[in-house]
Amino acid sequence: MAWPTNLDGFEKNLLKSDALHEMDSLDKNLLKSDALHEYILKTNVYPREHEQLKELREVTAKHPLGLMGVPPEEGQLLSILLKTMNAKKTLEVGVFTGYSLLTTALALPHDAKITAIDVDRSFYEIGLPFIKKAGVEHKINFIESEALPVLDKLVQEVNEDELFDFAFVDADKNNYAKYHERLIKLVKVGGIIAYDNTLWFGTVATPGPVDPKYPDFVGILRDDVVKLNKSLAADPRIEISQVCIGDGLTVCRRVY
Ligand code: SAH
Ligand code: CA
Repeated sequence: MAWPTNLDGFEKNLLKSDALHEMDSLDKNLLKSDALHEYILKTNVYPREHEQLKELREVTAKHPLGLMGVPPEEGQLLSILLKTMNAKKTLEVGVFTGYSLLTTALALPHDAKITAIDVDRSFYEIGLPFIKKAGVEHKINFIESEALPVLDKLVQEVNEDELFDFAFVDADKNNYAKYHERLIKLVKVGGIIAYDNTLWFGTVATPGPVDPKYPDFVGILRDDVVKLNKSLAADPRIEISQVCIGDGLTVCRRVY
């Protein structure tokens, strides 16, 4: 299978130089040790992972950008959140090969609707056979586009009684603050907006230049993530919980 080459920004940056090779030797999670992470995966996660999620994860792992996929332990948390809140109408910004999307589609009821946005459809097509095999494609409306204009259009069009229950944001980190202003209008009061990668390899806690062991994009986006975290923490329209799973997930509940 030929991997897509028409990448922009973050992805292109990631493919450049030795970034990916370097990433392999870096922590991909924020736990105390790799052994602890392995333990969680082996004990709690892999034995319960849906067959098509496992297949998709294995195919994605071979992709040069494979590390962008949501890790399976985080998928489990998203799935429980979605089921507990009886979500029926959700948004996803940043699909890639679709691990979080398939997780969502499996967690939602038969008549649910997911609006999934990504600038690059070729990633989604890698995951589509697994989504079809799992029998959940009918729940997904995939839109190939920059996210911002789609969200703006939704804000214009959506009626107060058809707001979204849940939104998962996992795309260009420098635009999360802009997405938040749209999503706070699109997700209903009591609904959830979840932002991924908000601990950014742990670099949010260390001021000054980012350790050169990280590829450039980590340093380039670190201050945006720090700024986002600060503004989410000060936003009275939401309650938040910073979850230390994967690369950090901020779960926001719209209060008004
Ligand atoms: N949630 C995915 C991972 C997403 S990776 C999973 O579980 O696999 C980030 C994705 O965001 C990439 O597929 C990239 O194409 C997309 N992206 C980056 N910038 C974007 C933008 N401005 N609008 C929409 N999608 C964007
Ligand atoms: Ca992510």
